[in-house]
Amino acid sequence: MSFTIFGLSDEIIRAVTECGYTDPTPIQLQAIPAVLAGGDLLAGAQTGTGKTAGFTLPILHRLSNRSIKGPSSGRPPIRALILVPTRELAAQVEESIRDYGKYLKLSSMVMIGGVSINPQITRLKSRVDILVATPGRLLDHVQQKTLDLSHIEILVLDEADRMLDMGFIRDIKKILVLLPKQRQNLLFSATFSDGIRALAESLLNHPAMIEVARRNATADNVTHVVHPVDRERKRDLLAHLIKQHHWSQVLVFTRTKHGANKLAEHLVTNGIPSLAIHGNKSQSARTRALAEFKTGSLQVLVATDIAARGIDISELPHVVNFELPNVPEDYVHRIGRTGRAGAEGDAVSLVCVDELKLLTDIERLIKRDLFNKVIAGFEPDPRIRAEPIVNGSGGGQRRTLPGLPGRSQRRSQPSAKPRAPRIPSGPSSGRAPVLQRSGGRGR
Ligand code: AMP
Repeated sequence: MSFTIFGLSDEIIRAVTECGYTDPTPIQLQAIPAVLAGGDLLAGAQTGTGKTAGFTLPILHRLSNRSIKGPSSGRPPIRALILVPTRELAAQVEESIRDYGKYLKLSSMVMIGGVSINPQITRLKSRVDILVATPGRLLDHVQQKTLDLSHIEILVLDEADRMLDMGFIRDIKKILVLLPKQRQNLLFSATFSDGIRALAESLLNHPAMIEVARRNATADNVTHVVHPVDRERKRDLLAHLIKQHHWSQVLVFTRTKHGANKLAEHLVTNGIPSLAIHGNKSQSARTRALAEFKTGSLQVLVATDIAARGIDISELPHVVNFELPNVPEDYVHRIGRTGRAGAEGDAVSLVCVDELKLLTDIERLIKRDLFNKVIAGFEPDPRIRAEPIVNGSGGGQRRTLPGLPGRSQRRSQPSAKPRAPRIPSGPSSGRAPVLQRSGGRGR
């Protein structure tokens, strides 16, 4: 089924064809007609499903076909606002708008923090039809009175769940009161927490509702594998896997900024070109690392969860969880970087004894057990005891993992029903099975 079914303008179809898209993805099949119809939309879609084109294409069509409601003379007003959680995602979305709108007269702008505000103020003096912004910087502009949002016709909250996770709800509310009451609202979210439901209820007016991926599902075309390994041997195992399998483009997730730096350094000393991106890096360093990674000149990009949000590299073949995320939903977000738009991908998790509870939580969320494979030469030592995990905030804050035996401060109820030990597959180490979970709950 081709893109011509939607009645999008020839200019848009031409640009989409040049992007190499032949068929709309499932989210596009549902979202494009809904947005073209002009009503509000609540869409459950993960990153990697083609959701950006799902809202961008009909927005471009609507804006290019409708006369401007703003002032009759002077610079036309900003008509669409797309709010996103991270700088990378903002850049990504705006790039898509430019790609899909290259044969239209519409103009877009990205507004993000971490870079000087002055060029943005200058840019705002010329025509901007579509603004893609992160909430913090947008409010800086509002405070400096350099931004007029009074003619917004379409509002998009993209990755709304992530915006709430990142504490943007107050900023979003401040922004909403600056917009005209009469407008089209589109809310995209990978997951539907109570917070998202409350936001949707207050924001949306009789929305069309679409959901393409099962809640918290991961793409079917991704192979998941867990390599049990001791905490101190993870770095060597990762270098070993990269070298042995000749992985050429690997996105690696760590829990902390410091951990990301240390790991990238270790890989570099092992002859594997690597860079870390995280919130403490300047925006230009992040952009440069991402660009090098995308072109393939950088073999490994080590990222924290927040920094990686919005990374869109088509057909990224390997995602490695060097450490499991503290929040199980982040596993789904991380894995969303591979197996995108139908391509095959593989998701490798290096799991030590400290992380068994986190693994259980992830498996419960995605409703499947992850395949275990011990790598010969990296068999975990069963005598090693679990230690508390250093929190992802990067500080010295420590917490005890619930569910692990022998710890003094338990945070959650241990289960009455112990989980059966797992027998790892793969090369036999001749040792006792690793990854035994005490306190795991049955599913
Ligand atoms: P998104 O979910 O918007 O982040 O998109 C994920 C990836 O899918 C991006 O690399 C898009 O360029 C790509 N994409 C979007 N729509 C299509 C399509 N209809 N056919 C093929 N690739 C697509």
